[in-house]
Amino acid sequence: MAGPLVAPPAAVRRPGGGDPLLTRARVADVIPFSWVDGPGNRYVVFVQGCSFDCVACHNPETIAPRTPGGRVATVGDLLTDLRPAAPYLAGVTVSGGEATGQWHFVRDLFRGVRADGELSRLTTFVDSNGNALPRVWDRLLPVTDGFMIDLKALDPEVHRRLTGRGNDLVLDSIRHLHGAGKLHEVRLLLVPGYNDSPDQLARTAEWLADLDPALRVVVIGFRQHGVRPEYAGVPEATADLLAGWRAGLEAAGLSGVVTV
Ligand code: SF4
Repeated sequence: MAGPLVAPPAAVRRPGGGDPLLTRARVADVIPFSWVDGPGNRYVVFVQGCSFDCVACHNPETIAPRTPGGRVATVGDLLTDLRPAAPYLAGVTVSGGEATGQWHFVRDLFRGVRADGELSRLTTFVDSNGNALPRVWDRLLPVTDGFMIDLKALDPEVHRRLTGRGNDLVLDSIRHLHGAGKLHEVRLLLVPGYNDSPDQLARTAEWLADLDPALRVVVIGFRQHGVRPEYAGVPEATADLLAGWRAGLEAAGLSGVVTV
């Protein structure tokens, strides 16, 4: 992916600081075209390293902060790489792993996109597990058009069983980003036997509807593809389960529910 560095536009230079085009990230993968990582056709950067360790992780190789085959890319490398694809793109998404774990890079990449005449029409999105402090979101908000946040479970103990961590920060993040007007969607991944009970549906629906009845909520069914062998016994979500959650969320007043 690494290519010649382009001359940095003056607008993305840091006064008295380093060149943001040289900000580096540990990158697990890059997809030049994706229809499932935000609105429209998007260039997606998957950074390496995640603060969670999810039962349902489809890309467990991205969890460790470093891997032997991992690579490092600079903002300049990625801007050079995405430029040929730009005419066919609606935007750029940073996913993971966990995007906020390398938020300096996300900020500088999005600044670079916005400061570049050829790229500035592209929207900038972050796909995140939500486990970040308000001060991190506040660094990203000025350069990000939308945030897609996973809510693995509303119940903190269920969340801990699914991810290894509690969900205080995740719930705060959802409220914070919604308050800033940039919460694009909340994603619910249903993992049978963990977070799919009627009680959890009722409480999750109430919490989300209380936040915003017009919120876009994406309900996703757990699939076995890519998960670690120790979780091979976790059943996949059925179409009936997804339909039941959609109906329950809509019954609570949520109007923007989508199942995938
Ligand atoms: S938050 Fe996402 S990348 Fe991180 S462990 Fe969970 S599923 Fe995997």
